Amino acid sequence: MQKNDIFEINITVITEDGDGIGRIPGDGRVVFCKGALPGEKIEAQIIKVTKDYAVAKVNEIIEKSPDRITPDCSYTGKCGGCSFRHCSYEAHLKTKQQYVRDCIERIGGFSENSKIEFLPIIGMENPYNYRNKAIFPFSTDRDGNIISGFYRKNSHSVIEIDNCKIENPMASQIRLAVTEFATTYNLTAYNEETGKGLIRNLMVRTSRSQSEAMAVLAINGNTLPHTNEFISFLTEKCPFVSSVFVNINKTSGNKVSGDKYIHLYGKEKLRDAILDTWFDISPMSFYQVNPEQTDRLYSVVKDFANLRGNENILDIYCGIGTIGLCLANNAQKSGNPIKSLTGIEYIRQAVVDAEHNATLNDITNAKFYDGDAGKVLSDLSEKGALADKYDLVILDPPRKGCDKKLLDTAISVNPEKIVYVSCNAATLARDLKYLREIGYEPNKVQPVDMFPFAGHVESVVCLEKRKC
Ligand code: SAH
Repeated sequence: MQKNDIFEINITVITEDGDGIGRIPGDGRVVFCKGALPGEKIEAQIIKVTKDYAVAKVNEIIEKSPDRITPDCSYTGKCGGCSFRHCSYEAHLKTKQQYVRDCIERIGGFSENSKIEFLPIIGMENPYNYRNKAIFPFSTDRDGNIISGFYRKNSHSVIEIDNCKIENPMASQIRLAVTEFATTYNLTAYNEETGKGLIRNLMVRTSRSQSEAMAVLAINGNTLPHTNEFISFLTEKCPFVSSVFVNINKTSGNKVSGDKYIHLYGKEKLRDAILDTWFDISPMSFYQVNPEQTDRLYSVVKDFANLRGNENILDIYCGIGTIGLCLANNAQKSGNPIKSLTGIEYIRQAVVDAEHNATLNDITNAKFYDGDAGKVLSDLSEKGALADKYDLVILDPPRKGCDKKLLDTAISVNPEKIVYVSCNAATLARDLKYLREIGYEPNKVQPVDMFPFAGHVESVVCLEKRKC
């Protein structure tokens, strides 16, 4: 097989990135076909060959899947944002649900007849304008004008986008105002190849509960020229902007943000609520991007946790404290408060936010520690600073999942229950396999669609200590 060869391929499964997978007839190698859906027969033209797999573009759809729809966004195929706009939302949800189950069975080694209950995925009724965070890169067009938008698919060139169907409309309005300001004041856009130019990107975070927005302009320099004019211009055009920062990022390449944030205007944090619990969020702290689904995600955690009162809870990878504080707050309001909450997170500012958020919600029995989760946990355990016994451990790691050492330390506190929240079903499955080896059985899996039209899927798993 070589580049440009043409084959008829039957697509059987789909990747997280929205590419259909089939096998090359006769050869047997896997081929990733851009944009093809399971059940389709396509004419594929090979664009890349390796010894293990091939990549192809779709020349023609010979037999079309009933799930295929005409994308309702004119940027589909150009913008790198949504990889599933060509597939009906119902079918897309089923794909995600199946993907989670496949990972757990295949990578986790849980057989089809294991006792795990796979609950149907929780989707959105109206999967539009759901995102509360956008990062818009800036660039220069052929005529030398400064432009902003999103990265083109698989590239770092920027395409201008008038109207994004998944972003909050406040974010687009802020982007247009910042771009207009940059044009008026002849500000330059950063060029990743030359390392020259000032404006790198604009991050906007919006608050559902307050209808406010935070704008963070990342620059390749020490100061933003015409700062006063910038603030007046932006707040006049977008009166809902409640907070403005610049982020200093003088690194080469395409790192999104640097370490230094300078507060220019308004509040230093954005306030939002999840499950009746208030959170103040700093620009660099992690916060779930889909607020409506976050309510549902945390409700699942709450159901799985099934708190009765007086529990010790350990929230590992706690960010600004969201999951643990929602549980603590809801328990307190129901009259059966928990005994203690311990949170661990390695972004120092997120820990400061978590402590502040505990106070904001009148929670006095929470403690947060900053540092690498594995290290902090071992240190606390060595110092005897952990409770003798935890009723619940919450794990909510980044995409790479947890390492074995962390899982060993987490179970050394002897929890009755673990609730694992994951944004990557493959690493989740790997970790479930190990947790089972060390005595914890998963009994329920609930996928939640936090990212409609994008490939990623979130899952919550309830594990209980195996009774010997
Ligand atoms: N539970 C929070 C955050 C989940 S995202 C929420 O739902 O909002 C994962 C968090 O883990 C991020 O805040 C990230 O900063 C943190 N993190 C990643 N690796 C870590 C590590 N090795 N040790 C501690 N925290 C880590």
